[in-house]
Amino acid sequence: MTGADPAQRLRVEVLGTEFLNAGVKRFTLRKPKGFAFTPGQGCMVALDQEGWRDQERPFTFTALPSARRLELIVKLYPDHHGVTWRLGTVGKGEHFLLGRPFGTIAYKGPGMFFAGGAGITPFLAILRQLHRDKALKGHTLVWSNRTAADVFLDAELGRMLHKHYLKTFTRENVIGFRDRRIDREDLVDLVRDFSQRFYLCGPQAFVEDLKAILLDLGATADSLVFET
Ligand SMILES: Cc1cc2nc3c(=O)[nH]c(=O)nc-3n(C[C@H](O)[C@H](O)[C@H](O)COP(=O)(O)OP(=O)(O)OC[C@H]3O[C@@H](n4cnc5c(N)ncnc54)[C@H](O)[C@@H]3O)c2cc1C
Repeated sequence: MTGADPAQRLRVEVLGTEFLNAGVKRFTLRKPKGFAFTPGQGCMVALDQEGWRDQERPFTFTALPSARRLELIVKLYPDHHGVTWRLGTVGKGEHFLLGRPFGTIAYKGPGMFFAGGAGITPFLAILRQLHRDKALKGHTLVWSNRTAADVFLDAELGRMLHKHYLKTFTRENVIGFRDRRIDREDLVDLVRDFSQRFYLCGPQAFVEDLKAILLDLGATADSLVFET
């Protein structure tokens, strides 16, 4: 992943922060004038603090491009002292340095969105845009998390997608929850139409596994949309 040209980075103020669950934090940012992106895109982000300016990491914009503010939703990894550890302490009034928007995940037509954990972020922007455009019919979101406690923005997703919002858990171990990875059998059950688009985002193994199964079941390489 190439970093942004430091000279072209935009200094952007954090207007507010909020924990969406114990390990996921939302940042609301002042939007620079004329800043444009498409749903699914993100940018390299660094903290404008001594010792952190050259530590750039990719994050995805989750608010609508037309919104007055920018929004980032970040899964924190507090166990090692990386950028997301530091972001855990960042509050209102601090500043980020943003690179130019980039990303290969973009909306290409109706289909199924498969997200693993924080891999939901590009889909949030896309689904929110489709909702705004009253064009969500014919789309399904399948979101895999370790446990129910890892889910966030559950009510919003439920309101937008109703029965087309499906959650699955890999480590819940509670009766009543489906407790396993999405596998071939699930996809045979879930996917009725292999001519639709399949949007994949999450840990590399999650994306690779689903890609292989979908292709094997009849999806074409062209129908798969994922970060490259
Ligand atoms: C295009 C793109 C868009 C992205 N958008 C988002 C987004 O919107 N929201 C989001 O939350 N994430 C997003 N990510 C992922 C995000 O960039 C990473 O989580 C982030 O870079 C981690 O930075 P870090 O400095 O905290 O961790 P790094 O130091 O860079 O470590 C990277 C990885 O190490 C692993 N790790 C955790 N704990 C330990 C440990 N104790 N020891 C060793 N390794 C450990 C984690 O899996 C972590 O991902 C995106 C990634 C890409 C490529």
